[in-house]
Amino acid sequence: MSIASNLESIEKRLKGTGCRLVAVSKTKPVSVIMEAYRTGFSRFGENRVQELTEKYRSLPKDIEWHMIGHLQTNKVKMIASFVSMIHAVDSLKLANEINKQAAKYERSIPCLLQVHIAEEESKFGFEQESLVEMITTGNFDRFSRLKIAGLMGMATFTEDKELIRGEFRKLKQLFEQIKSLHTPPNFDIKELSMGMSNDFEIAIEEGSTLIRIGSSIFGARN
Ligand SMILES: *Cc1c(COP(=O)(O)O)cnc(C)c1O
Repeated sequence: MSIASNLESIEKRLKGTGCRLVAVSKTKPVSVIMEAYRTGFSRFGENRVQELTEKYRSLPKDIEWHMIGHLQTNKVKMIASFVSMIHAVDSLKLANEINKQAAKYERSIPCLLQVHIAEEESKFGFEQESLVEMITTGNFDRFSRLKIAGLMGMATFTEDKELIRGEFRKLKQLFEQIKSLHTPPNFDIKELSMGMSNDFEIAIEEGSTLIRIGSSIFGARN
């Protein structure tokens, strides 16, 4: 299957769902991204700052770049001027640095709060139980340069579809709960980033608004 036909079949699946595709181009060369871009597609996701920056420099400027992976605080400054969305804000320290760098460029940066939903232990992501309280007690209020647009989560890596579905469903419930809170003006909760190559069908059914797909479009990574 070609990149064009892979993109086409995913876009066809998304029609009418309100869910959009982020094509995860990590490890793939610029020529491969250009192949997708020439079909009219322009929303790409990367998980390494160095790679993202190099690709941004050499590719058309109307591409929407999504930083999807864990972001180290000291690297925010490399992407703050151009990144379209940061999917994995997983600490107040990182939020603070994004706020600082966004101010330098006099812009506001759309961000998603990463929530730990998988069974696997992970040091990344806010815990579901504590996020609502963190928000209602004002922990995010001072980040006026962040546009907190929603939540992001990664399900357990498993063949157990019902486990995955349950995790996505919980994230959706948290999303609805946060949406209903009285939040400060830097909150505009509307995006739910969940679903990758192996579980995007379930994610769409459970209300995802952004699926992040790499290998099902570009083939396996080395
Ligand atoms: C690599 C990656 C993806 C895409 O994974 P595929 O299985 O190739 O679709 C999605 N989200 C994040 C955070 C990733 O790092």
